[in-house]
Order: sequence, then structure tokens, then C-alpha cells
Amino acid sequence: MAGPRPVLGNSRNTIEILNKYRFVFQKKYGQNFLIDSHVLDKIIEAADITEEDYVVEIGPGIGTMTQYLAAAAGGVTAIEIDRALIPILKDTLSGYRNIEILNEDVLKVDLKQLADKKNNGRPIKIVANLPYYITTPIIMGLFEKHVPVSSITVMVQKEVAERMQAGPGTKDYGALSLAVQYYALPYIAANVPPNCFIPRPGVGSAVIRLNVYEQPPVRAEDEGLLFSIIRASFNQRRKTLQNGLSHVPELGISKELTVRILEEMELPVSVRGEALTLKQFVTFSNLAGWYRNTQMT
Ligand code: SAM
Repeated sequence: MAGPRPVLGNSRNTIEILNKYRFVFQKKYGQNFLIDSHVLDKIIEAADITEEDYVVEIGPGIGTMTQYLAAAAGGVTAIEIDRALIPILKDTLSGYRNIEILNEDVLKVDLKQLADKKNNGRPIKIVANLPYYITTPIIMGLFEKHVPVSSITVMVQKEVAERMQAGPGTKDYGALSLAVQYYALPYIAANVPPNCFIPRPGVGSAVIRLNVYEQPPVRAEDEGLLFSIIRASFNQRRKTLQNGLSHVPELGISKELTVRILEEMELPVSVRGEALTLKQFVTFSNLAGWYRNTQMT
């Protein structure tokens, strides 16, 4: 084990450290600190951290999960936006030699560069109890900027975890499901009730692991077009795909073109976007791109 055994992860020690520094919770930063060691063990187990791994933790708070990560990983960079937490982190993590703390907004950090510097460009692992107000931009940012990441194990709002994992024809299936599943294989590792945090969040939480594909099973020729088509389909959820897409003229996909492609794919022309699999969306997008380029719209 690198460094001392974790001592945070229970309410007594958490409250003691919060009082020592007279810490005031900032609601705007989504601060809900974990106080349950079983949940922390579960996260480390789901993330499958070994000494070979370099981990980036987003939002360490008072350093609870950071202690667990530092004990298991080769190295950890913890990125925390709240300046008031930095002296606390220096205190709670003082016994560990493999941690770097950055006082930054994670959305402004070049994580690709960080991975290059810290892990020689080899894939890092992301582990976090995420601030829920920016879950989607953080995760999509990692994918879209092609940060070298092998897995992302994060605590998120339960319903967001369910949306990430949902398949076609279910109520939770939507643009987030498709975006996540294009880049990664999701798996919900645990559900976590509000009483595992201080203060208690108003919603249930879940730990989800996203295994990032080295080679995605399906690939769009134009990822921008694929995600524009997906967004347009789900903006108009109850509409057929033809109507949904024709509502977004910038796409340049007329009703006639949609019908033509659906016929080519042997799908009903009245199909709704929510019935299409990721593979079908990719096929549709590749065909639409091809027809658009050949001016056959
Ligand atoms: N990891 C700690 C735990 O499990 O007890 C704290 C998790 S708390 C849900 C989220 C943390 O993310 C808070 O410490 C918050 O200050 C931090 N945070 C919020 N927005 C951030 C941002 N844009 N960049 C970096 N950290 C952020």
C-alpha cells in the first residue's frame, strides 16, 4: 500500500475535519462528501485500480476517495475547483507521496496534455464522485477531446446512470445513451442512497463504470453529423425520424432523403428515432453524409 491507510470515509472524521477548518459547503459546486467506507471500497473495486494505474480524480472534496485511490494506484492527480478545500487536502493527504493536487476548474484543464505528461500518453483512469451539475460536459469532454482514458468510474445521479446504460425502446434511451455507448461500454456497479453523503443529496446516486473502447465497434465517418442527427431525433421524441430531421434545416436532410435511406436500410419509413440502435444511427448517418456529398438530397 502506498502511504497510510485511509482514515476518512466515515461521518465522525469527516465532521471533525470540516469543523477544524470551519468549512462552508458551496452548493454551486455540487458538494456532497462521501462518508461510507463500503461505498468507497466498492468504487475502488469497480475501477479496478492497481499500482500500474495513473488516476485522475475530479473533485476530491476533503480527500476521502483520494486517500483510497492513493493507497491503490501508482499515482493520482486530484483536480479541485474550491480554493477553500486546498489546505484541507494538503492536511488529509500529507502522508501520501504519489498525489498531486491541482486547484482548477476541470472543464478548463487540458486532460490530454496531463495524461501525456503524467503517464507518457498511456491511458489513464478517471475516478470521481462527480459534481452532478456538470456530469455530462465532463464525460462528453473526455470522449470528444480523445483524452487517452481506459475507464471512467464515476458516481452520478441514479437517473443519469440509467440513461447512460439504456437501450432502444426504453423510456431512458436518448442522446446521452447513444453518445456514451458510441465510445464506451457502460455498467452500473452500485446504487448509493443519499445517507452515504454529507450533506445528503436530494436524489439517489449510482456508481457507473464506462469501459472506453480502444476500437469502437461501430464508427461514423462524420461524428459531428452522427451526433447532430441523434440530437435532432430526440429533440422531437414523439415525432417520426423524417419529421424530426426535417425540423432541423441545417442538417440538410430532407424528408425524401430520410425515406430513401430508411427504405435502403429496410426500416419502416414511419420509424421513430427512439427505436433505432446505435449501429442503425451510424449507418443512417454514413448514408446521409454520402448522399449529401453527392448532392442527391
Ligand atoms: N470526492 C469527494 C467525495 O467523494 O467526498 C467530493 C465529491 S463532491 C460530489 C464534488 C466535488 O467536485 C466537490 O469537492 C466540488 O468542490 C468539486 N467541483 C465542483 N465543480 C468542479 C469543477 N468544475 N472542477 C473541479 N472540481 C469541481
